[in-house]
Amino acid sequence: MAEQDAFAPIIQLRGIGKVFRRKQQQVSALTDIDLGIRHGDFAVIAGPSGSGKTTLLNIIGLLDTPTAGHLAFCERPLSQASLAELARIRRDEIGFVFQAYNLMPVLTAAENTEMVMEFQGRPAAERRRVSREVLEQLGLGGLMHRYPDQLSGGQQQRVAVARAIASRPKLVIADEPTANLDSKSARNLMDLMVGLNEQAGITFVFSSHDPQVIERGRRVISLRDGRIVADQQTVAFDALA
Ligand code: ADP
Ligand code: MG
Repeated sequence: MAEQDAFAPIIQLRGIGKVFRRKQQQVSALTDIDLGIRHGDFAVIAGPSGSGKTTLLNIIGLLDTPTAGHLAFCERPLSQASLAELARIRRDEIGFVFQAYNLMPVLTAAENTEMVMEFQGRPAAERRRVSREVLEQLGLGGLMHRYPDQLSGGQQQRVAVARAIASRPKLVIADEPTANLDSKSARNLMDLMVGLNEQAGITFVFSSHDPQVIERGRRVISLRDGRIVADQQTVAFDALA
C-alpha cells in the first residue's frame, strides 16, 4: 500500500492556485504551487506577511479549497471527495495548531486535549488515558486540570500541540504557532515540536516569518507573492519507517 511507503507524500499539491474574489477585486493568493509533504517532514513555510502562508496551510489542511490544480491525500485524489470525506480526513488524519492557541476557555487542559478524540467517538476512558499520557509527555502533567486563562501563552500553546497530536494524526499543521509568544516560549515550543518530530516521528508543517523559528525547520519552503521561490532540505531527510 502507498501509505506504507515512507517516500510517498502524505499530501501532494499540483498546480495549486487560489484566487479570492471580493466584489470587483481579485486577489491571487497562491499561484502554481507544486508541493509534497512526506512522512517525517519538519517543514516550515517561510515568507513575509501576505505571501500566502495561511492560505497554503488552509489548503494543505483541507480547510479551504483551491481555485486551480489538484490535491491528493495519501495518493488518493481529492477532486471528487465529498465534504463528509474531507471532514473525516481533517478529523482523523490532521492535527491543527493555530496562532491564537484556540483552546476552549470553558474546558481544562485535559478536556481540551480530549476534544478531537471525542469527535472521533473514542471511549471516555481511552480519551482520559491518552490525554494524560500526552500532557505528561509534553511536561504538562501538573497543569492538566487548569483552564486556559490559568496558563501562560507558552503553556496554552503546548496544550494546543497536545490536543493536535492526541488523535494520532498523520500530519500536524501549525500556522505561525509562535507569533504570540515571547522568544523564550517560542524557543521552548520549537524544541517541543522538534522533539516530537525526531523522537515520535510526527510530521509537521508550520509557518513563520521569524528567522529564529524558520532556522529550526529541516525543510524550508519559501513563499513570495503566492509562489514557492525555494524549497530546501536543510537537514538530511530521514524518511520514517
Ligand atoms: P500570510 O499568511 O502569508 O500573511 P495570507 O495567506 O493570509 O498570507 O494572504 C495571502 C494574500 O491573500 C494576501 O494578499 C491576503 O490579503 C489575501 N487573502 C487572504 N485571505 C483572503 C480572503 N478571505 N479574502 C480576500 N483576500 C484574502
Ligand atoms: Mg498568515
